[in-house]
Amino acid sequence: MADLGIPQNTIALLQKYNFNFQKKYGQNFLIDTTVLERIMEAAQINSEDCVLEIGPGIGTMTQYLAEKAGKVVAVEIDKALIPILEETLSQYDNVTIINDDILKLDLEKLAEEKNGGRPVKVVANLPYYITTPIIMGLFESGVPLKSITVMVQREVAERMQVGPGTKDYGALSLAVQFYAEPQIVANVPPNCFIPRPKVGSAVIRLTRYSEPPVEVEDADKMFAIIRASFNQRRKTLVNGLVNAAHLNISRERVLSALEEMGLSTSVRGEALTLEQFARLSNLL
Ligand code: SAM
Repeated sequence: MADLGIPQNTIALLQKYNFNFQKKYGQNFLIDTTVLERIMEAAQINSEDCVLEIGPGIGTMTQYLAEKAGKVVAVEIDKALIPILEETLSQYDNVTIINDDILKLDLEKLAEEKNGGRPVKVVANLPYYITTPIIMGLFESGVPLKSITVMVQREVAERMQVGPGTKDYGALSLAVQFYAEPQIVANVPPNCFIPRPKVGSAVIRLTRYSEPPVEVEDADKMFAIIRASFNQRRKTLVNGLVNAAHLNISRERVLSALEEMGLSTSVRGEALTLEQFARLSNLL
C-alpha cells in the first residue's frame, strides 16, 4: 500500500472514495512523512507493544504503527472512513478497527480483551475539539497505560507542560503532571495536514508515572480544590475555595492551612505548585 504520508497518495485516495471532510469530527489528516517518523520515534513502539490509536482517519499513522507494534487497536467515529481503512490496512493482520466514539468506549475492558490488562501505549493525531476529555478520560478511566504520544493544538501542549507563574498554567497542567511526565517533542505547522488547521500543532509525549510524584491522601479532593482555585482566576485562592459551596470549607480553615504552609492570605491559585496543592488538600 502506498505511503499516505505522501500528499499525492492521500489526495488520490480521498478522490477515489469521494470523501467529504467532517468539520465536526476535527478531521485534519497528516500528510508529512517526517512528522510521522518523528511521532514513531517519540512513542518508541516495538513489537511487544499494543497501541491504541484514537481517530485513525484514512489509516496514515496506523500503517506506520502496524509496521512497528505487536498490535494496533484503532477507534474511529466516522463510519464513512471504515471502508477506506479496510483498504489501506488490508495487508496488516495485527490491526483491529473499531467504529465507535472513543469517549463512550469502556477502555479498561478493551485493554483487558486486547492486551490481557497489560499497559498499552496511546498514539494519536487527536481531534482537537475533545483533547481534554480524551486525555483526562484516559488517566481517570483506570486503563493501564505506559505512555500517551499525541498531536494536539500547540497552545494545549504548552498548557500541559508549564508550571506556576505562566499564563497557560491551570487545572489541565496540574492534572497531567500528577499522572505523567510531559515533554513536547515537535512543533508542527498547519501545512503538514489536509485540510490545514487554523492553529499550530505540537506532538507531546506523556509518560505515565508508576507512582504519583506527590503524596496526597485524597486525589479527588485535591482536584476539586484545584478546579475551584482556577475557576475564578482573578480571585484569591481563599475566595475561590470559600465560594465553591460544594467544597464546604470555611475561611478560617483555609487561612490557617495557608499560614501553616507559609503562604500569603492573598496568594492566587496560579502561584501554587502541584506539591503545594497536595499539601493544602491534605491540610484541609
Ligand atoms: N490519524 C489521522 C491522521 O493523522 O491523518 C486522522 C487524525 S484527525 C485529526 C482526527 C480523527 O479522529 C478523525 O479521523 C476523526 O473522524 C476522528 N474522531 C473524531 N472524534 C472522534 C471520537 N469521538 N472518537 C473516535 N474518533 C474520533
